[in-house]
Amino acid sequence: MIALAALLLLQVADTVTALTVRDGDRISRVPIVFARAGRMLRADDLGAALGTKIERTGPDRLVLAAAGTSIEFTIGVPFARVGTDVTPLVPAPVASQGVVLLPVSVATDLLPRVAAGFQFDASRVELRRFRPVVASLPKKADPPLPARRPERSMTEPPERQEHVVVVDAGHGGQDRGMSGPIRGGKFRIYEADITLQVARRVRDVLQSKGVRVIMTRDRDTLIALGDRGRIANRAGGNLFISIHVNAANPRWRDPGAARGFETYFLAEAKTEDERRVEQLENEAVKYDAEVETSAGDALSFILNDMKQNEHLRESSDLAATMQRSLAKVLPGPDRGVKQAGFMVLVSAYMPAVLVEIGFGTNIPDARFMASATGQQILANTIAEAATSYLAQLERRTSVGASR
Ligand SMILES: [Zn+2]
Repeated sequence: MIALAALLLLQVADTVTALTVRDGDRISRVPIVFARAGRMLRADDLGAALGTKIERTGPDRLVLAAAGTSIEFTIGVPFARVGTDVTPLVPAPVASQGVVLLPVSVATDLLPRVAAGFQFDASRVELRRFRPVVASLPKKADPPLPARRPERSMTEPPERQEHVVVVDAGHGGQDRGMSGPIRGGKFRIYEADITLQVARRVRDVLQSKGVRVIMTRDRDTLIALGDRGRIANRAGGNLFISIHVNAANPRWRDPGAARGFETYFLAEAKTEDERRVEQLENEAVKYDAEVETSAGDALSFILNDMKQNEHLRESSDLAATMQRSLAKVLPGPDRGVKQAGFMVLVSAYMPAVLVEIGFGTNIPDARFMASATGQQILANTIAEAATSYLAQLERRTSVGASR
């Protein structure tokens, strides 16, 4: 009996029968085909789930085009071609009775690696797609390209790079952000104060670990949304962390009860809740006209597609690291990693996240965020997530360089 149960469990673990493809609210299941060579996916099923067609370009060739990347497969050949790069693919694609089967690794490994905007979550057997924001943002004049640090040449000895983390305290000056709590607690908090207090603590913790920190503001002043990113670019930042406080929608059934923390990266908002927070934070743009903005391109939120795509994956990884760290210590519920089109993130050309550290509308959350202890816990955790992400990044780039 016990042996049988163990065997059954093993089989369940070993026989995931489908892979999920999530594109915002659209969820598709792609059945896994157990072929002789290994686990495969039907090319047409995968194409349909990705919202793209996998085209036959020859009797034994096919091309999968997704997110601007074309991947070429040849039946019977254990390699895939992306541009001029050839990458191993095991097992090789097979065709039988007009049906082409591709190895599962196309979805779990190849796509997330070569195409922008894909991430595979192994624990859920889920391929997630997110799209960069382009259309939904107001378009103004082209901003000048941010100054990029010169690429290090291959012949130079590797040197330890100094990391720069940009900490952005949301709102400030006449823009107080949200205020709460809403059930008439005996105290009142303003987002602009909380974000500054937490940001300063994050700065102190990071500096104590030898990380260079740039604050977009370190006093109670208003900085235009677009300028926050520009400050970060000018400083040659490696990471951008924007700190905010969430607010419940007063139309919710019990708005005072909503609490918890969430981390966003920049991509098109897909759910109603993501759009709510996007609107909440982008509203600050109304103050931009009243602040001195950088000459020439005051409200330039246009984004350079390529540059944003470069950071999409990194930003979502950073958001996941951040959210995981917060979940270990914060009292409120873990609301997960989310995506939305925040103007403040658009202008920063580096991996960037926006953290909603709690609901100021909720009494316990507000009390935690306003307390010195709560703020220190938040700051330690945000700083630790940043440094652990930088360490990951360093490992990855040094592996890349040694190849
Ligand atoms: Zn905010």
